[in-house]
Amino acid sequence: MFVIVLLAKSDWRLANSSGSKGEELRAVAPANARSLVDVAIIGGGINGCGIARDAVGRGWSVFLCDKGDLAGATSSAASKLIHGGLRYLEYYEFRLVREALLERETLWRMAPHIIWPLRFVLPHHKGLRPAWLLRLGLFLYDHLGARKLLPPTRTLRLNRDPAGAPLKPEYSLGFEYSDCWVEDSRLVVLNARDAADRGATIAPRTSCIAAKREAGAWRLTLRDEISGDNYEIGARSLVNAAGPWVGDVLNGVVGVNARSSVRLVKGSHIVTERLFDHDRCYIFQNNDGRILFVIPYERDFTLIGTTDLDYSGDPGAVAASDEEVDYLCKATNDYFRKPVTREQVKWSYSGVRPLFDDGATAAQAATRDYVLKIDAESEAPALLNVFGGKLTTYRKLAESAIAMLAPHLPAPPKPGAWTAKFPLPGGDFAVQGFETLVEGLRARYPEFDALMIRRLARAYGTRVPEFLRDARATADLGRDFGAGLTEAEVNYLVEREWAMTAADVVWRRSKLGLRLSKPEIEELDAFMKAAQPAARVAVGGLGA
Ligand SMILES: Cc1cc2nc3c(=O)[nH]c(=O)nc-3n(C[C@H](O)[C@H](O)[C@H](O)COP(=O)(O)OP(=O)(O)OC[C@H]3O[C@@H](n4cnc5c(N)ncnc54)[C@H](O)[C@@H]3O)c2cc1C
Repeated sequence: MFVIVLLAKSDWRLANSSGSKGEELRAVAPANARSLVDVAIIGGGINGCGIARDAVGRGWSVFLCDKGDLAGATSSAASKLIHGGLRYLEYYEFRLVREALLERETLWRMAPHIIWPLRFVLPHHKGLRPAWLLRLGLFLYDHLGARKLLPPTRTLRLNRDPAGAPLKPEYSLGFEYSDCWVEDSRLVVLNARDAADRGATIAPRTSCIAAKREAGAWRLTLRDEISGDNYEIGARSLVNAAGPWVGDVLNGVVGVNARSSVRLVKGSHIVTERLFDHDRCYIFQNNDGRILFVIPYERDFTLIGTTDLDYSGDPGAVAASDEEVDYLCKATNDYFRKPVTREQVKWSYSGVRPLFDDGATAAQAATRDYVLKIDAESEAPALLNVFGGKLTTYRKLAESAIAMLAPHLPAPPKPGAWTAKFPLPGGDFAVQGFETLVEGLRARYPEFDALMIRRLARAYGTRVPEFLRDARATADLGRDFGAGLTEAEVNYLVEREWAMTAADVVWRRSKLGLRLSKPEIEELDAFMKAAQPAARVAVGGLGA
């Protein structure tokens, strides 16, 4: 087995375990792994990938690893909202709310295929604050965030508006305001793709098993989870963006005896068949003070979440419990005329929020703000630990992370903040131009199913022709795995988006798992397993 051995500080280079240099190393290490990178990142969730993109775009060399799939943990288990967080106003989190509100339109412009506006319906009832106070809060919400494109709040007469139809008749007054929707796991992979396009090494299924400060740099031991091989790289700085494992990385990988500042809070969602006909989302406040979102999802479904429970188990094994499923059904039924039953639940998922422990007693009151802690005493190479955060603020978190790392690294060639101005892959079209994009694709591929083209446009934006190419019919796209998923798309996901298993494709790069049968998913998995060695070589698999 070959490893990359770190030599003297001034002589970081590739070598095998006997100390001689060798090209064979490239078979183990990612094709473009460097012996000494400026920034090494543990964690391929939204925070790690966001930091990778920002750092490499400024001219630093970047290496990122994730022990599983990209977005395999919290970043694919969210409510998928780009939102200011109306309820955080109640906790006086004005900085967080303002920053998040400002991000809505910035992120929408960067990725108008995977992010779009969503209107929220808030029914008023006597358990809530008085209607005038809610209206005032929404006025603040409308104006804190320099909204330019998103429509403003309005009052709804629910007994006349279609949004009132699924609700019990006692809900007659409501408000409607704007936030945005995001395809969470695609946001992660598109950040990783853009980082890789700019030169970063992205290594999914690679665990960081040890990190030691040595000769003025970090020496990282990495395990390729596919081959079982270990290799090492050096890094001038290290970012611990391990989400719910941030404390484990500190204690077990870095070996710092740190008092854990992370509070793990579990949140579960259920997906049912479609419960209502319009495209607006509901925000309900329950008697226990929790917020529930009931969201139109994947055209034929409804997404309901979330719970908020302190969690002490393995974040990798988190799942929605029967009690949580019942809780979510019951909470919805407090508002809906037609009861939702457990039998209607098609799918559930659960994630663990890695919140900064601010000492709040209730899980739902713990801060959603992010906290970055740098450890870089005297000349020691920097360690930056990321706690908390939201999908919504990942870009600002990355900018703050860069600002904290910069004094400990060589000056980057392009020091300025840049990420807001450059679209994510496939997002290089007008912010309100999605329908025009779909029309263009339909004109170019007239024989294809209209719903399939729309799904592809949502997922890949302007990059759809990269794999549809000159196809004239679905039959030109190779095997058909069902629900419009073809071999051409799967190959694209393998080659350009690091997909390696059927689960990567049907639950994270897409949500086709809701439509494909178990045998169809198994067939896809078998196909991908057979294709894998070639794909890993073709794209450098671990480090395209
Ligand atoms: C139920 C729920 C709903 C939410 N809803 C929203 C929402 O609507 N809007 C919003 O803005 N935010 C939302 N959030 C918050 C948001 O999802 C999280 O803040 C964000 O995803 C955290 O990302 P992360 O990169 O820090 O962590 P993760 O996505 O968990 O990534 C950490 C990664 O580190 C990897 N890792 C760990 N240890 C190692 C190691 N030793 N070596 C290599 N890799 C390692 C893991 O495999 C993992 O992939 C929600 C969160 C939850 C749980």
